[in-house]
Amino acid sequence: MQAMVLERPGAPLRAVRIRRQAPRAGQVLVKVTACGVCRTDLHVVDGELTEPKLPIIPGHEIVGSVEIVGPGVTQFRPGDRVGIPWLGHTCGTCPYCVSQHENLCDAPRFTGYQIDGGYAEYTTAEAAYCFALPQGYSDIGAAPLLCAGLIGYRSLRMAGEAEHLGIYGFGAAAHIVAQVARHQGRSVYAFTRPGDAEAQAFARRVGCAWSGGSEDQPPAPLDSAIIFAPVGALVPKALAAVRRGGTVVLGGIHMSDIPVFPYELLWHERTIRSVANLTRDDGCEFLALAPRVPVRTEVTTYPLEDAPRALEDLRAGRFNGAAVVVP
Ligand SMILES: [Zn+2]
Ligand SMILES: [Zn+2]
Repeated sequence: MQAMVLERPGAPLRAVRIRRQAPRAGQVLVKVTACGVCRTDLHVVDGELTEPKLPIIPGHEIVGSVEIVGPGVTQFRPGDRVGIPWLGHTCGTCPYCVSQHENLCDAPRFTGYQIDGGYAEYTTAEAAYCFALPQGYSDIGAAPLLCAGLIGYRSLRMAGEAEHLGIYGFGAAAHIVAQVARHQGRSVYAFTRPGDAEAQAFARRVGCAWSGGSEDQPPAPLDSAIIFAPVGALVPKALAAVRRGGTVVLGGIHMSDIPVFPYELLWHERTIRSVANLTRDDGCEFLALAPRVPVRTEVTTYPLEDAPRALEDLRAGRFNGAAVVVP
């Protein structure tokens, strides 16, 4: 099969032909039809996440059809459409796993990081971590739901009841979360890179009440804010924009250092919290909700061998919404 492989962090992805894996017990072999491009893939490729299996095939927003089921797989059959997310394996026995916090598992494995992912024609995955996908979405349209959507949704839950919600960094996750938040009756305020008029127009098009640059003040105090951009300097900015008792949720897996800031910004019971990974319950809940909103994903597609260009376009903010590679 054709695959895009990272041999060492910092090196460009290389197109190679490799033998596809046979599914082992509990696994499915999936023919990949679409794979979303996530900022986490950039962190893996750049070496900012330090524990990859190498070489690794990145990609953890995978849509495809089951080709072969391994021994013991009962939930899927050949031909079924499945989604494969970031959470690829958990131990099932650690204190986090046994208390409904499998996203914090002591011994997890993640797709496209420690398990070969979806920048390839085929992939294998543990069936227990795959999702059935809602009808009404094309394979390409469904791919961004699998990380931008469901980790974005977890971030939105962590933002609490906020009626006035700020979102810093208006990419794939934000454009999905904004639609869900609006469906829930909230007002969403989008913060982009200063001067990025196109992203600001895009944010208003998907339902935001206001959009501006990260330096700007929103027209109303925020009840909570979610930061999706991997920029630590946004943390004190967001704290300054949320009201007393408000929460700032950090939705990314990696962020540049957070600068020193005066305690006054945190005072009055403001909270900062990170969001790590997903649980399978998050996935089921979000994938049931998405078609009811309905969430519409805005997608730019790239052929599989152009995955490096997709990653560079993501880095430079050259598209609105999400990028998806198509084998
Ligand atoms: Zn565990
Ligand atoms: Zn992701």
